[in-house]
Amino acid sequence: MEEDIKKTIRKIIHIDMDAFYASIEQRDNPQYKGKPIVVGGSPEGRGGVVATASYEARKFGIRSAMTSKKAIQLCAHVIFIRPRFDAYKEASKKIRAIFHRYTDLIEPLSLDEAFLDVTEDKQQIGSAIEIARQIRQAISDELQLTASAGVSVNKFIAKIASDINKPDGLTFIGPSRIEAFMEELAVEKFFGVGRVTAEKMKAMGLHTGGDLKKLSEAELVKRFGKPGRFFFKIVRGNDDRPVQPHRETKSVGAEDTFPYDLTTLEGMDPELDKIADTIYDRLKIIRALLRLTE
Ligand SMILES: [Mg+2]
Repeated sequence: MEEDIKKTIRKIIHIDMDAFYASIEQRDNPQYKGKPIVVGGSPEGRGGVVATASYEARKFGIRSAMTSKKAIQLCAHVIFIRPRFDAYKEASKKIRAIFHRYTDLIEPLSLDEAFLDVTEDKQQIGSAIEIARQIRQAISDELQLTASAGVSVNKFIAKIASDINKPDGLTFIGPSRIEAFMEELAVEKFFGVGRVTAEKMKAMGLHTGGDLKKLSEAELVKRFGKPGRFFFKIVRGNDDRPVQPHRETKSVGAEDTFPYDLTTLEGMDPELDKIADTIYDRLKIIRALLRLTE
């Protein structure tokens, strides 16, 4: 009985490697350090998309999933690097092993990103912030790479938190801060809200979590379909989705991008095309990885 009433506050960490593929290339090839490089794509702009851009390339506006042609337009001297999937897979494995020192409740979202549930950690450290600090330190010491971490009580907030002080940052958003944080959060920063939905919200005068919070659940569902239910919960900081350790990297896909079901045509915004392209690119990378490891 008591167990039911006393709801455990979870401790969730989201770890996101900084410019993962590009950082590995800069680590292993010192001549690329400090240079605008992209992994993937082709120098002639013949096609292919950027898998990862270094922070130096990002200064020119180059982003993941951008076409090679566009990347060249933004930075004529950008360096294209052929992906070395074996190296990325190797680094990913080592990072995963570091996570396992603290918990087995690990949900990878991709090779370079994962949720960890450390409500009960193996070393009984107890503090999620301290665990995140140690993980970042171990990644730096053992792999010479940087990771950003977000720490909070659920996946949604942890995921957004990891992005706040990127690169090489650690952000903690505790329970008492969630409400204020969500009220101020711009709708385009919501994990799971795509660009088209964000634009739609803004056109309705809904710019922040606080604006969304003023609407009833019924009103949100009326305007956005089933995702409205998710928005209603999330602006109140409620996200009880568990960290799912059984998920494999190769299942990266829609649920990574949409934390709710898209069951109506209305819910399937045109942005889905763009997101599908991104997923397709990721799957191509994963397929190549699987070929290498088989
Ligand atoms: Mg990353």
